Amino acid sequence: MPGGRGSGPEEEPMEAQPTSVLVVGGGLVCLSAAVFLSWRGVPTVLVERHSGSSPHPRAIGFTPRTMALFRAVGLGLHRSFE
Ligand SMILES: Cc1cc2nc3c(=O)[nH]c(=O)nc-3n(C[C@H](O)[C@H](O)[C@H](O)COP(=O)(O)OP(=O)(O)OC[C@H]3O[C@@H](n4cnc5c(N)ncnc54)[C@H](O)[C@@H]3O)c2cc1C
Repeated sequence: MPGGRGSGPEEEPMEAQPTSVLVVGGGLVCLSAAVFLSWRGVPTVLVERHSGSSPHPRAIGFTPRTMALFRAVGLGLHRSFE
C-alpha cells in the first residue's frame, strides 16, 4: 500500500532464526522492550504484521523520563527537533 501500512502478504517468508526472546508487535511498547533487551545483550527478534509505519501519528510527545531512558541506550531526537 503506497504511503501507508502494508499488510505484507506478498512478502517473502522470514528465515528461521534462533533467539532468546521473541517480541510480537512493533508498537511503542514492543519496540522499546526490544531496544532495552538488546541493549542489555539479550538476543531479541521482533516481528510486526505491518510492513511499514502507520500513516497517522499516534504519539506527539514523550515525557522527560522516557527521553532519558531512550537517551541512555543511544536514542535521541535529531538536533533540529530539540
Ligand atoms: C489516533 C491516535 C492518536 C494517539 N495519540 C497519542 C499521543 O499524542 N500521545 C500518546 O502518548 N499516545 C497517543 N496515542 C496512544 C498510543 O499510540 C498508544 O498508547 C501506543 O501506541 C500503545 O503502544 P503499544 O505498543 O501498546 O500498542 P500499539 O502501538 O497498538 O502496537 C501494537 C503492535 O502490535 C502489532 N501486532 C498486534 N498483533 C500482532 C501479531 N499477532 N503479530 C504481529 N504483530 C502484531 C500491531 O500491528 C501493532 O503495530 C494515540 C493513539 C491513537 C490511535
